[in-house]
Amino acid sequence: MSAPSAPAPIVVQKYGGSSVADLDKIRAVAERIAATVADGRRVIAVVSAMGNTTNELIALAQQASPAPDRRELDMLISVGERITMALLAMCLRDLGVAARSLTGSQSGIITDERHADAQVVEVRPDRLLQTVEDGTVAIVAGFQGVSRQREVTTLGRGGSDTTAVVLAAAVKAEHCEICSDVDGVFSADPRVVPSAAKLEDLPLEAAVELARGGAKVLFEDAVRYARDHGVRLTASSTFGPGSGTRLQVKDAPTKPVAVTSDHQLVAVSTSAADVWSLLAACGARVRSVEGGQAIVDIRNVHGALPDALEAQPVARVRAVASALAERPDRWHRAHDALQVDGIDVQAHGAAGDVVWWQVPAERLSDAVRVVHEALHRPG
Ligand code: ASP
Ligand code: MG
Repeated sequence: MSAPSAPAPIVVQKYGGSSVADLDKIRAVAERIAATVADGRRVIAVVSAMGNTTNELIALAQQASPAPDRRELDMLISVGERITMALLAMCLRDLGVAARSLTGSQSGIITDERHADAQVVEVRPDRLLQTVEDGTVAIVAGFQGVSRQREVTTLGRGGSDTTAVVLAAAVKAEHCEICSDVDGVFSADPRVVPSAAKLEDLPLEAAVELARGGAKVLFEDAVRYARDHGVRLTASSTFGPGSGTRLQVKDAPTKPVAVTSDHQLVAVSTSAADVWSLLAACGARVRSVEGGQAIVDIRNVHGALPDALEAQPVARVRAVASALAERPDRWHRAHDALQVDGIDVQAHGAAGDVVWWQVPAERLSDAVRVVHEALHRPG
């Protein structure tokens, strides 16, 4: 008598908005999933909203109200991913592959109450596991969960990555693939720096710093969760050739030097009364506190900041490399190159693996090119 065979391994695949932008692309994603199933894997596919849908829904909310109520905002923007999940499940079924769509709540993603920037506090994957048990593909709406008060919440812009990683950890997936229109993580945004190189391997710790600095390929909460829960993660292109980037918990064989930029930041004076509770209530993330100001990420605020806060927009370029701050001879090349290029450095800091420069917003892309070039120059 032969021993019962082990259940097929589970893989989690996350498809970003540009990979599901229209029905032809959704059909192509269905074929990609069908091929993974044919290869003997059980699949959980996490989907983003189609193309620009989330931006459009947020713009609609902002037309309805200058500071949209955050609970209602979540009711609205969680819809984008649900459209994709249902369409993809229909397409898979037409290919003869059993598939069922599930919302974040149905997939057991429990979050805190911070609407439009919620953190996952628990995952109860029973229903998801029941779905994939018999080979049915589970299509999960990314970017959303449910709070203990049973309110629909969303996980912050880019949060479908978080959905994929938390589910991969909960079901002990073999690995988690983040599929988008770029072939992994680059040493800078290739649209800004044409000479940017793809990073074959990237330590998860460095990936957290890149995501924190504004790199758009991976969402920081997702990378942090992968680091903390030992999820095997790759970032690669959905349809294109290329080997993607492997994200490793351990030190990767190469030591990347990468440059990111962020213009969704404001400097807020910390002298205002209630500054911290006001920031938390409006969905701002505090990036750092420097002297009398907090540097705050406002990408999930979606409305006007409270009048009581004194806020100035800031733009920063950030370089990340192992122990970079401790080697001023290295980063000073970039510092000097910014001056030579006539880019006004308004503030500057260095600590650990990170060095940053605050520059005028209209010179941010130039600053990324200059810093990337200077840090990659041999010698
Ligand atoms: N659709 C959401 C966004 O555009 C979530 C995601 O795609 O990860 O931010
Ligand atoms: Mg994304």
